[in-house]
Amino acid sequence: MKTPSSLEELIAALRCLPGVGPKSAQRMAYHLLQRDQPGAARLAEGLSQALARIRHCDRCNSYAEAAICELCGSQRRDPALLCVVESPGDLLMMEQAQCYQGLYFVLMGVLSPLDGIGPKDIHLDRLVQRAMDGVVREVILATNFTVEGEATAHYIGEALRARGLKVTRIARGLPVGGELEHVDGGTLAQAVLERREVS
Ligand SMILES: [Zn+2]
Repeated sequence: MKTPSSLEELIAALRCLPGVGPKSAQRMAYHLLQRDQPGAARLAEGLSQALARIRHCDRCNSYAEAAICELCGSQRRDPALLCVVESPGDLLMMEQAQCYQGLYFVLMGVLSPLDGIGPKDIHLDRLVQRAMDGVVREVILATNFTVEGEATAHYIGEALRARGLKVTRIARGLPVGGELEHVDGGTLAQAVLERREVS
């Protein structure tokens, strides 16, 4: 019996999720259709709403529904501090650790020459422009302690220091190869507290 094409299409679409192969995609599709149609409708609605509404904040490049996100628009943050993270997830980790009162810039990736990801793909020009607003006094590099994260921090650090900015790197309280999203808030807070100037 031939599978109906909309079902085939659903299964194929589910495979865009990380770690989902043909078998799990099939299981998910059958689950949604047979056992959880309200859940499926909510998922479809959530996806289409998010796609229609979510954009990148003009200041921090994280996800936002307006031109400037809530965090960047907040009067309670210290505009002299700019923390550079790889992803919106890392920003969330920093916020949950409650150790930082400044603003952010989200790279949406890391430099990875082998994958063809260069300075343009991590919005380096925008970061430099953002950091040079005359208000930022310290840029804190909080990329992960992976090979790519370290290389990215180094590259950004050079670019910003060349323009006379003070640049610090969060401390190596995090394990080698460590990713922000896998450490606890206390460790992250300590790493921010013990940040060192890049030279
Ligand atoms: Zn923002």
